[in-house]
Amino acid sequence: MTLIHTTPLEEWIRGKISHISGMNAYKSGNAHSFSREQGPLTRALLESYQLVKLRDTIRLARSNSSFYRDRLAEFPPEKIKSLRDLQSLPFTTADDIRESPMRFVCCSQDEIRRIVTLESSGTTGLPKRIFFTADDQELTKDFFHHALGVVAKPGDKVLVLLPGERPGSVGELFADGALRMDVTPVAHGFVQDPEEALGVMEREKIDTLLGTPVQVLALASYEAPGENKFRTHVKNVILNTDHAPKAVTKRIQQKWSCRVFNHYAMTEMGLGGGLECEAFDGYHMREADLLFEVVDPVTGETLPDGEEGEVVFTTLTRQAMPLIRYRTGDFGRLIPEPCPCGTVLKRMGRVKDRLTGKVVLAGGGFISMSVLDEVLFSIPGVVNLRAVISSASQGDALSVQVQATAWSASTTVELVRNALLAIPVVAQKIRDGMLVVQPVEVDFSASVWRPAKRCIQDIRIGSGRK
Ligand SMILES: [Zn+2]
Repeated sequence: MTLIHTTPLEEWIRGKISHISGMNAYKSGNAHSFSREQGPLTRALLESYQLVKLRDTIRLARSNSSFYRDRLAEFPPEKIKSLRDLQSLPFTTADDIRESPMRFVCCSQDEIRRIVTLESSGTTGLPKRIFFTADDQELTKDFFHHALGVVAKPGDKVLVLLPGERPGSVGELFADGALRMDVTPVAHGFVQDPEEALGVMEREKIDTLLGTPVQVLALASYEAPGENKFRTHVKNVILNTDHAPKAVTKRIQQKWSCRVFNHYAMTEMGLGGGLECEAFDGYHMREADLLFEVVDPVTGETLPDGEEGEVVFTTLTRQAMPLIRYRTGDFGRLIPEPCPCGTVLKRMGRVKDRLTGKVVLAGGGFISMSVLDEVLFSIPGVVNLRAVISSASQGDALSVQVQATAWSASTTVELVRNALLAIPVVAQKIRDGMLVVQPVEVDFSASVWRPAKRCIQDIRIGSGRK
């Protein structure tokens, strides 16, 4: 049996607690100093730190952000006596940010180092804008540095398949973090041509890949089974996303006999949220910087650990744009059982769906992107997919477009169609005469699709979505 090391994130968080709260104690002269407390990290120590930082965050937000001045008018930090009291605070939504991003900003204009604009998938059509100070960016780099410590070792080389040209972009912050542990980052950006990227991997002797699941899959699937034109030596892969289908992880592992770590993140979290440990069974969360809850998406009630609901987080250390009880729209659960790695850090089960990811079909029942993902990514050669639900003369029509490797050309269309027809809800709806499956379209070009949020597009008449 392989020995599973305790996630190094625990040691990092222990250090942060001593350091940051020590500084606060020094600055304010009254904050509780955790630096005096010795020994390993415990839940009690972590939670008392989180409570202090939560109150600091509420104080900062109420005094500097006009949004929270109004929204939290009835909630002075003194009212928060325990982490449970967080549950009494109102939520912040993506629409709140879209409507008036500037109202969230807690620092002066010249302290803002980076603004990320996220194009909208929401109801208002407005983009979301997220602001960061230099200190906020430092927190991200520090996380990337220590998260990479879970995966790689000094001397390794990591190929960054994420955008990194702009100052403060995810690729650049990650590269800075990597250099701090003597891992050499090789900037690449999104993959367009797998042959070119595989050439870089061979030439640069890349050990570790950082990229989105479908982009890494495109590289792992490029060669036909048994073909080994490129001498690559991938030991580790970090999938940087909120949603990596199991089937994708499996195919990447099989191709390179490598370890595949899932990283859960979104820009609003400060680009880093949680990373799997060597047990590969849930992400350990960045608990010194973020406080996570899982709530009932309908009632908003906080759910006990183990139950699945909407992931909500509160920032504990962010300066430009603190977010309090931010609803992510992701479906997840906190795992109550201890992790095999032995850490006291919380663990979140793999996030595989968005709240909007489930499409209710005519006559009842639903289909979700995660179901299509697991079924279609299990087919060798399939590297990406798009799905659209539209109105048919009776009921719904499901159209699926797939990107597949050239070597799988003779089999893919039939395999995809058969796999779709074998999904129980699809089979049932066809029998009921409420669903038609359109002919499958397959793109065999080697030019990789641009990364996009993968969800089922619902363009039915009266769906109100497009
Ligand atoms: Zn663990």
